[in-house]
Amino acid sequence: MITALEGDIQHNQGVVSLNTSFISAKKSENNFEIICNDGNNFSINAKVLVNSSGLYSDITSKKIQPLDQKYNSPIYYAKGHYFKYSGPHPFHSLVYPLASEFSSGLHVGFDMGGQIRFGPDVTWVNVIDFSFDESLKDYFINSIHNYWPDMDPDKLQPDYVGIRPKLQNSNEKMKDFSILGAQDHGVDGLINLQGIESPGVTSCLAIGQYVAELV
Ligand SMILES: Cc1cc2nc3c(=O)[nH]c(=O)nc-3n(C[C@H](O)[C@H](O)[C@H](O)COP(=O)(O)OP(=O)(O)OC[C@H]3O[C@@H](n4cnc5c(N)ncnc54)[C@H](O)[C@@H]3O)c2cc1C
Repeated sequence: MITALEGDIQHNQGVVSLNTSFISAKKSENNFEIICNDGNNFSINAKVLVNSSGLYSDITSKKIQPLDQKYNSPIYYAKGHYFKYSGPHPFHSLVYPLASEFSSGLHVGFDMGGQIRFGPDVTWVNVIDFSFDESLKDYFINSIHNYWPDMDPDKLQPDYVGIRPKLQNSNEKMKDFSILGAQDHGVDGLINLQGIESPGVTSCLAIGQYVAELV
């Protein structure tokens, strides 16, 4: 799907510029002057600027002039770990335990090879660091045993981690994602997306359509 979407961009005379950092943007008259770096600094002019930089959306927002910083939400980091299970299992479909306030629970999912994995948990962290905390294994075992008592802990192995960009800290009430356009912050042509966490991939086409409508 991603390759097809990239093809759509290119067929519409767009360019996908990989390994390129956004440095800053400044609006003058009708255009943003956007400074990028792909090894060298260069600038592009654009009528529209969409900030969808995930975990870095608050840092990016600070570098967009003249965005009033009261429309920039600080991003908090909630790490999610997955453990994979190597062995026979009774599952044929996804199983979701009841959700908590910050997470949809340690659910059973399948990878492309049909192997199952459990996760994600919620571990609040202060820095973006993708190391795996293996000490969570006992917590995973207890949680999975609630709905699969026969699960063999020896077959449970660390798989991978991801980090959610949260708009609230661990001691605050759940906040929903935010998509702000000119009608909110007053900067014509700027669409600012923050806190796009799960199910951001599943809903990415709908989000894209909504952003296109704002534009
Ligand atoms: C543990 C976990 C489990 C999840 N499970 C699901 C799920 O089951 N289903 C689902 O639909 N979603 C799931 N999600 C959510 C999903 O991954 C996100 O919603 C989605 O990736 C958000 O897409 P995005 O494009 O907004 O941000 P991202 O995917 O974070 O992309 C942002 C991009 O911006 C780039 N960037 C940042 N700063 C700069 C800069 N200065 N210059 C250039 N580029 C920059 C980054 O490199 C990155 O490529 C999960 C997330 C986590 C963490």
